[in-house]
Amino acid sequence: VSVEPTARTVDDAAEGLVLVPGGAGFVGSHLCDRLVERGCHVLALDDLSTGDAEHVAHLARHPRFRLVVRDLATGLPDEARVARRIYNLACPASPAHYQRRPVQTTLTSVLGAWHLLEHAQSVGARLLQASTSEVYGDPEVHPQRESYWGHVNPIGERSCYDEGKRCAEALCFAYRREREVAIRVARIFNTYGPRLTPGDGRVVSNFVVQALRGDPLTVYGEGRQTRSFCYVDDTVEGLLRLMDSAHEGPFNIGNPREHTVLELAELVLRLTGSRSRLEHRPLPADDPRRRRPDIVAARAALGWEPRVALEDGLQRTIEWFRATLGLPSPRTVVLPAVAAITAA
Ligand code: UDP
Repeated sequence: VSVEPTARTVDDAAEGLVLVPGGAGFVGSHLCDRLVERGCHVLALDDLSTGDAEHVAHLARHPRFRLVVRDLATGLPDEARVARRIYNLACPASPAHYQRRPVQTTLTSVLGAWHLLEHAQSVGARLLQASTSEVYGDPEVHPQRESYWGHVNPIGERSCYDEGKRCAEALCFAYRREREVAIRVARIFNTYGPRLTPGDGRVVSNFVVQALRGDPLTVYGEGRQTRSFCYVDDTVEGLLRLMDSAHEGPFNIGNPREHTVLELAELVLRLTGSRSRLEHRPLPADDPRRRRPDIVAARAALGWEPRVALEDGLQRTIEWFRATLGLPSPRTVVLPAVAAITAA
């Protein structure tokens, strides 16, 4: 299918090679899809520690796409040196994953950003740094606006990620101030959609897989903590717009609709038709109590806001998990059983 480029789609393509560290990850692979669609030449870098080559397997034979397996903290491969645009998405982002390898997480964030900024400076490239709502920690201000400095435990279990990302942001601004590197900073809030990894420990992956398997849904604490869930296509659109814009940010990229974890559990049960029960587990250390982005700045500067409602996005996510795990719909399991009982 050939897609006519619109005025907005020209920028990245005209910029030559686009580098996507973390390109085999959850958000990164969706971004690669969009960039290839826009006509860009894309080089994805990924060490496949939490990413999966399967996520970009459908692009493997595309003439404008390449995946290089590489740990960004060790530097850039030679083929990346011509890149003029970089979307840095390289870092484990699920708490279970990043807490398993805290040293590597911090180094990937900080050294990864440093290698990319050095490259950006030497060739005049533009770097979009994927930052995170975690820079706000357990926020005392609600909703979170970009001007809020955050409330992070600097030595807590989440600090390898929070402080790694905060340092990467600081490094971006240091390179901009001292060396005039063109930077863009996006603070990405909880994102969900197809290609989340089953078993990554995130709440959406856990609940959907548990509901489809008929296992109890593990609600941490009382489940009254909140998160705001953004569908991955909306997140990617925000990143593309930010890269093309004249604004460096930071911008919150997230969905401002806030839900408790219990509400999410109930919605997943309803959409899957599952009869799983809820099972409460201890709340992890430093688990933020509330999280909701203020997206006034992104709306005004980027003309961006999320379009996909949680129910629709979850439905697509559930279908993807169902197909990937080869699980039948609980509805199709339940109905014949009821029919059998009635017949008996
Ligand atoms: N959570 C939960 N059950 C799970 C996984 C997570 O109740 O099986 C909670 C977790 O304690 C947190 C929220 O869901 O309050 C979101 O967790 P996630 O790991 O997805 O991302 P976070 O926003 O904490 O980085």
